[in-house]
Amino acid sequence: ANLAEMTRIGLPVPFGFTVTSEVSVRYKQEGKLAPEIQEEIQEKIRDLENVSGQKLGNEKEPLLISVRPGYPVPIPGLQTAILNLGLNDDTVEALSRMTGNEKFAYDSYRRLIEMYGVIVMGIPKERFQDVLLESKKRSDAKEMIELSAESMKELVRSYQDIVERETGEPFPQDPALQLRKAFDAVYRSWNEDRLKKYRRENNVPEDVGIAVNVQSMVFGNLGADSGAGYVYTRDPETGEKELCGGFLPNAQGEDLELGVRTVRPVDSMQETFPEVYQTLSHICEILENHYLDAQKIEFTVQHGRLYVLQTKSEKRTAQAAVKIAVDLVREKRIDQKEAVMRIKPEYAEKMVHAQFDKADLKKAHAAAQGIGVSAGAAYGGICFSVKDVLRWKDLQKNAVLVCDNPTPELLAGFSDAQGILLLHGGIRSQGAELARGMGKCCISDIDNASIDKERGILRIGQKIYQRGDILSLDGVTGTIYEGMVSLTPPDFLGDFGTIMEWADSFRTMRIRTNADTPDAARQAVYFGAEGIGLCRSEHMFFDKDRISVFREMILASDKEEREDALRKLLPFQQKDFEEMFRVMEDRPVTIRLFDPPLQDFLPRTEKQFEEYAELSGVSARMLKRQVQKLREMNPMLGKRGIRLAVEYPETAKMQTRAIVTAAIRVSGEFGYNIQPEILIPLTVSHTEFCYVSGIVRKEAETVMGELGKKIPYMIGTMIEVPRAALTAGEIAEDAEFFSFGTNDLTQMTYGFSRSDTQDLIRQYVERGILPADPFRTIDPDGVGRLMKMATEEGKRSRPTLKTGICGEHAGDPASVEFCHQIGLQYVSCSPIRIPVARLAAAHAAIREEREKKS
Ligand code: PEP
Ligand code: MG
Repeated sequence: ANLAEMTRIGLPVPFGFTVTSEVSVRYKQEGKLAPEIQEEIQEKIRDLENVSGQKLGNEKEPLLISVRPGYPVPIPGLQTAILNLGLNDDTVEALSRMTGNEKFAYDSYRRLIEMYGVIVMGIPKERFQDVLLESKKRSDAKEMIELSAESMKELVRSYQDIVERETGEPFPQDPALQLRKAFDAVYRSWNEDRLKKYRRENNVPEDVGIAVNVQSMVFGNLGADSGAGYVYTRDPETGEKELCGGFLPNAQGEDLELGVRTVRPVDSMQETFPEVYQTLSHICEILENHYLDAQKIEFTVQHGRLYVLQTKSEKRTAQAAVKIAVDLVREKRIDQKEAVMRIKPEYAEKMVHAQFDKADLKKAHAAAQGIGVSAGAAYGGICFSVKDVLRWKDLQKNAVLVCDNPTPELLAGFSDAQGILLLHGGIRSQGAELARGMGKCCISDIDNASIDKERGILRIGQKIYQRGDILSLDGVTGTIYEGMVSLTPPDFLGDFGTIMEWADSFRTMRIRTNADTPDAARQAVYFGAEGIGLCRSEHMFFDKDRISVFREMILASDKEEREDALRKLLPFQQKDFEEMFRVMEDRPVTIRLFDPPLQDFLPRTEKQFEEYAELSGVSARMLKRQVQKLREMNPMLGKRGIRLAVEYPETAKMQTRAIVTAAIRVSGEFGYNIQPEILIPLTVSHTEFCYVSGIVRKEAETVMGELGKKIPYMIGTMIEVPRAALTAGEIAEDAEFFSFGTNDLTQMTYGFSRSDTQDLIRQYVERGILPADPFRTIDPDGVGRLMKMATEEGKRSRPTLKTGICGEHAGDPASVEFCHQIGLQYVSCSPIRIPVARLAAAHAAIREEREKKS
């Protein structure tokens, strides 16, 4: 399309035609090119012959063509062009006569045999490269251009032998046959496993197909007044507006990629090809103006004449994309909406993290590979316990906490470590979730890794790392590097800040955060959070001072003991909530009552039992017996969420007291307008909701009476069990807001465990049984349908019902768009996903507006 466009606006493009991608789709169905299409291709070849005055296969003036596949999306490592098609043992002689350059003619023929051999006949490239290397050695030549015409001739003969040896057939001499087979090869390539996998992973539809461009050849390897190169109209690394790229005199385009010759910077042409360079700069301007975006342009210079072979809006770094978009607005070429649309939400994640210093990273040695479960980059000394982490902190050094089985004690160390390494657990484990909630860089699932705590050793494969050895973690790619890779701070202001401001002005959904600690809340506000959509209050109990009191509460043998423990917990909770309210000021804060199964908080290891027994004065044996009583077969489907409050209403009362007291105190201190939102998890019915909300409401009123001050507050529910979604209309009669807990809602709608079915889901996705991982992107037909229905029915019975989402999906761009479409008022995601969500919400609003207009 771009070749046609450039031809239309009068740029020097080698004459040619395009066989559109529909033909490849038809080829796939019919297994061959339909006769009428073959006829049309012939006709177009005749046009080419008429324009050039040359003929395909003619022994005096042969037409040479290139066959270049064109894809609708950039796909790395795809089949490249076949150049010089039309050469054979006779036409090569004619080319030699026409150009007076025998070496050039045979070099071109050699290249055709190699490209054709590799692409059409499937011969390994090394076969040809080995022979070429041998020839260079024999001639004592460093570069190919140093070879003589005679050597090129010899290479052609050797290459032909390779073809015959490898395929049992000679290199085809008939140009028409060469062309037909080239088409077959392009179409066949679509079905390569590698490409199928890429399309699946990148959501490229199967029916987009491949186009084929056929053009008359222009040659950059005709001598010193020729060459090949590429130019970026703006630097793809930085976005700076300056031409950059590469150029090779006396070369064909493929030489630029081979890396055998040193490519010169494109601006060196100012000296060697001053006029061509001027034309090139002018063309860069034209193309930017035409496409209203930075371009990468490929070109050839033939005897001092410039030809454009390709232009496209090339890939760029996140930083460059941002700068280019903002500059284009400043240059009045695009508007703010368009600029926002050009920044992929994923880019935002890159912009908000410290990143590894690029030069340092090049030198770094990758020690192991895991799954990146919480983004960012970090380095630090290996620690195996919270004590280690705190010691490193005291020494003002960074720590990487390595956990085999993250017990509540270890989870308490997360906040002081710079990076977290989980040997198992996957993306949805409690540890991964906690790290994301804190915005900590975290990698999980390291193959063949084990910890020997006694000896202070981490083993990965054959390698042994000692306590204190430095590791660097990339939480995006999941790569672990040995030693320290230094970090560059995030650039959240400047042009990126401008893009985010524009995005905020276009979005209609609010962006909140899931934050459990004041630090996380502070970070979230910095990233632009407009409120807290989920504070998992139980996470506040991982702290080492509180976990034992919390256990006391769980293991209490009667109500009295439990209330005793709760009394001790109350001041901790209240202080936590006060801090949260202070950080959030006037912004809304949703606090969820305890949710997880109680067994998550209990001692697991022998050592922990002993420690806790000593602390509590109860024997380890007794403790184990009590813990055993609390064990459940399916804890995720057991006593958790609202069910805990039904069984132990005193826990809900204590939390309500802490929330209301904290809100009254902080609003009194600072004059903030605090309206806490109390969230009840895992509700399944209206009656159940009323049972617990009644307890909460009564306690809230009691506390306000005691303190002699009233504050507005709301009581709402998570919608995370299908039954709650199905009866949302009734629940909304009493619930003032809904927060969709799509982690559980997905788990319970599919019946896939959210904790350990990643491998199964990956297989489902690979086999095309599922279009995407439903724990990552909302499944619109099942889970999404429940959400839509619950929103509609909820609003029908309570028009003022507030609706939002707080599952992990809230940080996934496609899911954010879905939430916008069903009319949710906010999404609430982990702090580091906030910029992603802000952009995604803006995209959703702009896209909707554009669709309405069209
Ligand atoms: C959910 O289920 O989506 C949710 C936010 O709650 P949690 O992840 O804490 O179960
Ligand atoms: Mg949940």
